[in-house]
Amino acid sequence: MHTGSCLCGSIRYEVDSELGDFGFCHCRSCRKASGSAFSANASVDRKRIRFPGGTATLRAYESSPGKFRAFCSQCGSPIYAWLESSRDTLRLRLGSLDTPYTGQPKFHIFVSDKAPWDTITDEVPQYPEWRSSPG
Ligand SMILES: [Zn+2]
Ligand SMILES: [Zn+2]
Repeated sequence: MHTGSCLCGSIRYEVDSELGDFGFCHCRSCRKASGSAFSANASVDRKRIRFPGGTATLRAYESSPGKFRAFCSQCGSPIYAWLESSRDTLRLRLGSLDTPYTGQPKFHIFVSDKAPWDTITDEVPQYPEWRSSPG
């Protein structure tokens, strides 16, 4: 079981499965949405995430056609994203986790879009754009 929350605590979630593919996305919209060099995301089946305190402050923004980003409208924390074309698979924002997670990243995607001040120094495989799963 993994649990997480937004910065203000209005949104708390529980995931009762293992997290899937973990990777970093350096695309322009992940940079904007995170305010940082990249987002750190792992896959979660939409049916395996619950919100025990409700989702009153959860909003979704369509950042590009068919791509939605869910965030807390009170504190701005990104929580997950999904593609309308595969809406049962969420890409959880790992910075929101409260439980320890020991998974290791498997990929960097949209490296062609990365900030010029962002230097990748690990050995994790890099892809110019998509690999197979969305960031
Ligand atoms: Zn919040
Ligand atoms: Zn991205």
